[in-house]
Amino acid sequence: MSQIETKEFQTEIRQLLDIVINSLYTDREIFLRELVSNAADASEKLRYIQLTGQEIQDKDLPLEIRITPDENAFTLTIADSGMGMTKDDLIENLGTIAHSGSKAFVQRLAEAGDNKDVNLIGQFGVGFYSAFMVADKVALTTRSYQPEALGYRWESDGRGDYSISEEEDLPRGTHITLYLKEDAHDFAKADTVKRIIKQYSSFVPYPVFVNDEKI
Ligand code: ADP
Ligand code: MG
Repeated sequence: MSQIETKEFQTEIRQLLDIVINSLYTDREIFLRELVSNAADASEKLRYIQLTGQEIQDKDLPLEIRITPDENAFTLTIADSGMGMTKDDLIENLGTIAHSGSKAFVQRLAEAGDNKDVNLIGQFGVGFYSAFMVADKVALTTRSYQPEALGYRWESDGRGDYSISEEEDLPRGTHITLYLKEDAHDFAKADTVKRIIKQYSSFVPYPVFVNDEKI
C-alpha cells in the first residue's frame, strides 16, 4: 500500500470551508452545478489537448459525465474522463487559492453575517468547496491525461486538512464521491439529482448520465 500524506489547507481555504460548512444553508443544491461545471471544464481542456496531437492516457475513453447517486450508501459520485490532475495539480488546485480576489471574497462573506449569498461561491472560483455544504467527507480519485502520470486519491472532511495517496489502475479523469450529511440524504436520490441537473446544467456540451440514463 502506498503511503498516505496529510496536508493542511491554506488559511484562506480553511476560512472558506468554515463558512461553507457552518453558515451556508440555502440553495445548497448549487454544489451539483459547480461539480458538473468542473467536470465539463476538465473535458473541454482534454478536447483541446487532443487537438495538439499529444499522447494521451486512455485516448479512446469518451468524454462524458457520469453521476451515480446511491440511496443505500447515501453517497453521490460525479465522474468525468477529462484532463484529470497530477499530484501537484491536486495540491495547487484543491489546497490553495491562487487568485488575489479570494482573500477579499472570504472577508466579504465573513462580514455578510446572515445575508451570505451562496452564489458568490461560484463567482469567485471556489466552486469545488461547495461540496462541503452537503458532504461531511469528500473522496476524489484522479488520473492526469499525461501518459506517465500516476493516479491519486484525495480525501477530506473539510475541517482543516486533506490526505493524498497513490492509487493504481485508475482511468483518465476525476471521480468525486460525496458522503452526504444526514440532512442532505435527499441528494442520494436519482429523481432529485435529475431535477437539479435539468435545472442548472442543461447546456453542458458533453453527455451527462444519471445512473446510466442519459439526461
Ligand atoms: P474554478 O472552477 O473556478 O477554477 P473550482 O473551485 O471549482 O474553481 O475548482 C478549482 C480547480 O480545481 C479547477 O480550476 C481545476 O483546476 C481543478 N478541478 C476541479 N474539479 C476538477 C475536475 N473534475 N477535473 C480536473 N480538475 C478539476
Ligand atoms: Mg469550478
